[in-house]
Amino acid sequence: MNASVVADLHLHSHHSDGVLAPDDLIKLAAARGVTLAALTDHDTTAGLDTAAAAAQRCGIGFVRGVEMSTGWNGQSVHVIALGVPEARAARASLEAHLAAVRSRRAERLQEIGARLQRKTRLPGVELAAAVCGAHDVPTRMHLARALVEHGHARDVGDAFDRWLGHKAPGHVPETWHDLATTLVALRSCGATAVLAHPHRYRLSSGALRRLLGEFREHGGAAMEVSVGGMSQNDLDRLATLARNGGFLASTASDFHDPALPWNLPGRFAKLPAGLESVAAHF
Ligand code: AMP
Ligand code: MN
Ligand code: MN
Ligand code: MN
Repeated sequence: MNASVVADLHLHSHHSDGVLAPDDLIKLAAARGVTLAALTDHDTTAGLDTAAAAAQRCGIGFVRGVEMSTGWNGQSVHVIALGVPEARAARASLEAHLAAVRSRRAERLQEIGARLQRKTRLPGVELAAAVCGAHDVPTRMHLARALVEHGHARDVGDAFDRWLGHKAPGHVPETWHDLATTLVALRSCGATAVLAHPHRYRLSSGALRRLLGEFREHGGAAMEVSVGGMSQNDLDRLATLARNGGFLASTASDFHDPALPWNLPGRFAKLPAGLESVAAHF
């Protein structure tokens, strides 16, 4: 791949828990020097047509993507599908899968709200209902923002620490479709599977290697190696896992919000030597 390509293959718009419209997101990415962008909203393809048109206007490359909520060993892992077909008929199975995940999301958010209401003094039921009413892809991020707005947390990070994180009163055990089912849906439309932000899962190095092994068995081809805001130690660790596992490597900001400067579009370290970029396949 041409060394001047800056590929940001993990970006969120307001169709999931990002704050920008897809065309504004693409404009920002292009202005920041991204030359190949993928829109990867959580569990929806709703923004892809708008983003693709914006990328064409801005003169940058575009990859159709989606970030799929997945269960593995009782926790959430995220799988990025890259190269989702434009024709709806060609991605009918993927869309059916995503629709099921979105309804699970709404049920889950209501469960979280009910737990908060029961275990704390927060109006969890009402807040969760408002989030579900306003968003096709209701996420904990939306609930975190609502908690901040209503004065129950300082910022989104604080809302996760106090109310929503895995040790907090609003935690609900994950019940997403498993890795095998997710990858069947992803492969049904010929997309490329990328394991998102492997350094963020609460896994020992042995468990992470097992996850990568299972991911590979189910057709996973690539993993994110350079992600916005990560430490040099994590970058080195993931680079080694990608080299040893023979995975293609991806670069990702996981951008959501221009107010959070550590994961702006295009902001991540260059891929370390000895890795093949998944971007070269698009
Ligand atoms: P969900 O997919 O509904 O579980 O929502 C998770 C989303 O919330 C992730 O995609 C992140 O964007 C965001 N998130 C998760 N954990 C944190 C955290 N500790 N601080 C800030 N944002 C978080
Ligand atoms: Mn998110
Ligand atoms: Mn993610
Ligand atoms: Mn993401």
